[in-house]
Parts: sequence; C-alpha cells; structure tokens
Amino acid sequence: MTLTDPTQALAELRAGNRRFVTGAQRHPNQDSLHRAAVADGQHPFAVIVGCSDSRLAAEIIFDRGLGDLFVVRTAGHTAGPEVLGSVEYAVTVLNTPLVVVLGHDSCGAVQAARDAARTGTPPVGHLRAVVDAVVPSLQRAAEQGVDDVDGIVDIHIAHTVEALLGNSAVLAAAVAEGRCAVVGMSYRLAAGEVRTVAAVPSVVPAQAGDRATAVAG
Ligand SMILES: [Zn+2]
Repeated sequence: MTLTDPTQALAELRAGNRRFVTGAQRHPNQDSLHRAAVADGQHPFAVIVGCSDSRLAAEIIFDRGLGDLFVVRTAGHTAGPEVLGSVEYAVTVLNTPLVVVLGHDSCGAVQAARDAARTGTPPVGHLRAVVDAVVPSLQRAAEQGVDDVDGIVDIHIAHTVEALLGNSAVLAAAVAEGRCAVVGMSYRLAAGEVRTVAAVPSVVPAQAGDRATAVAG
C-alpha cells in the first residue's frame, strides 16, 4: 500500500487503532510473502515519533505490519537532531505523508521531569537530556494551571509537534506544500485508544470526541 495523502494516512491509522481497541485486528503485512515483497524498498505511510515506553508498540496499537510505519522512539518523544533527521529522511526520501507524535498517559519521562522540578535535583547521566526536553512543557503547563501528569502529557505532545515544525524547515515546507501533516496523539495504556490533541494543518479532520487543537506551525 502506498499512501500519499495525509488525510487518508490518518484515516488508516485510526482504523487500525479501532481494530486494536475492539479486538478485531487483521495483523496486515506480517506474512512472509509481504516480508519478501518489501525487501526491495519501503513506502511507509506514517512516521511515528513516539515515547519508548514498552507498552506503546506502534505496529501493535495501530494494527499494521512490515513497511507501514517509520518509527522513531525516545523516552518522552523528544525532538533532538537525530529524531529530526530521521523524520526528514522519511518525509523527503520516502515521501511519507504523515508524522504522528505519540505520547501516552502516566508517561515516566514526564513524571521524572516533574519530580526533578519539584525536588530541584536533576537526574544523573544522560537521563538529564530527556528531562531537559520536557521542561518547556512543564513551564507551559504551569502557566495554564495544569498540574496532573496526563494533562502535562497532552501539553508535551503539542509541544513536540511545534518543536518538530519549528526546528525542521524541511518538514515545515512539506506541510506548507500540503504533502504532509503533523498530528499529536495521546494513547491510553489501559483502553488502548488514541486521541488527537494537536494537528497541523488544523483542517485534518478530528475524530469524534477528540479535543483537537491547532498549534502554531
Ligand atoms: Zn512515556
């Protein structure tokens, strides 16, 4: 399947998540014939910039298979240079039409950042880089009077969408040309459901019940 339209790609992801939530998975593109078919080249229809959390496996929660999703994961879905470069590779070389920032409730990276801010004690080692990447979202949450972890997670997802677009001229150009969209989704660990919390362009249709918010591109 080669999808080039951001709206179609988003609909495909939502349909797969719906199958996952309802136990109606098809496990597409996971057989040996498909494995051989995609060995010569990939055309993933979505980039997933997700948290590394072990319960957030993209191909499982969106009911997809080999060659479908280009997945970049770091604790707290940070947007550092290697992440930006990976996204740009997918969008420009593979022509992937959709970038999804995927966060989740009870995120340990957000909790660690909040703990560090409360105690005034930064984490040791490279974990500090993860925490530092979440700090701007903590500050924004404080400005908005949001104190619960899941509320901060939603703000951090929207912040990551903005960070990708603000720090990647290549991605921003692809969005401006209508070749790509960037959508922030929040996943519920127990329910298995994704909810859209940010979308650029904001014309990307929101799912029923979503609290879709346009963020500045
Ligand atoms: Zn997480």
